[in-house]
Amino acid sequence: MPRYDFRCRSCGATFELRRPMAQANDPAVCPQGHEDTVKLLSTVAVTGAAAAQQAPAAGGGSGCCGGGCCG
Ligand SMILES: [Zn+2]
Repeated sequence: MPRYDFRCRSCGATFELRRPMAQANDPAVCPQGHEDTVKLLSTVAVTGAAAAQQAPAAGGGSGCCGGGCCG
């Protein structure tokens, strides 16, 4: 579930909430009970399959380096 950061304009506190994206723009209430809050733009922690990228295969394959023959 995405995490959203909010800041209270009444007491200046920042807090975060986890809520469905459908409720991303709903008003949030400060932990102190204030309702004058603004949503901050922040990196949404979403772990997806896009992070898994295959590294390109290195050229060659004779295994020259690694054995000390070219170093
Ligand atoms: Zn507050």
